[in-house]
Amino acid sequence: MTLQFAGPIPSGRTATTKATASSGDRLLAIRVLRRGLLLNCARCHFEAFYRVEQVGSFFDCLACGHTSAMARGRWYKKDPEPH
Ligand SMILES: [Zn+2]
Repeated sequence: MTLQFAGPIPSGRTATTKATASSGDRLLAIRVLRRGLLLNCARCHFEAFYRVEQVGSFFDCLACGHTSAMARGRWYKKDPEPH
């Protein structure tokens, strides 16, 4: 199961959303959840979850080992940024 949090909540969001993010931060702190990105390989297109600690400007494919750049096309195509 993968849960994703978009990051800091802009002002104006509902209290429920803030409470959910706060709960997420608590679960991250006690290592129940992990932050990461769903990315695919530029060579074999294998898609996997990468912890934020594993990803920088590049990431190594878990299937074939190819190093891909963090660039458009490596994440869900309808999203402007990875998440
Ligand atoms: Zn690959």
